[in-house]
Amino acid sequence: MSRVRSKDTKPELAVRRLVFGMGCRYRLHDKRLPGRPDLVFRGRRKIVFVNGCFWHGHEGCRYARTPKSREDFWRAKVERNRERDGQNIASLEADGWKVLTVWQCELKDLHVLEGKLHEFLLERA
Ligand SMILES: [Zn+2]
Repeated sequence: MSRVRSKDTKPELAVRRLVFGMGCRYRLHDKRLPGRPDLVFRGRRKIVFVNGCFWHGHEGCRYARTPKSREDFWRAKVERNRERDGQNIASLEADGWKVLTVWQCELKDLHVLEGKLHEFLLERA
């Protein structure tokens, strides 16, 4: 589903820039892993997903509001995406990966996001 996890979106590029600045090397969109994670840090056994708030149903987020027209259709679609995301994360974690999800809305404060990524990638075991 290319619209759900499209390559090289703006939020993703911003995250890549931050992570690169920390000296962390990663692999992109690894097809062999569930959900084709956006950034894969093999050595650290860590994964970062960069999710659009609407498509991935960011809970309580104002960017994730369902359009008024065809509301049921969108709601069901987003719900399926959320379920699949949850399953992907569960199977990655069962396989020993640590997973961090970055939401599109978090890009509004790059300083905070940088701290979060730094903590996840460099401080957490
Ligand atoms: Zn959001």
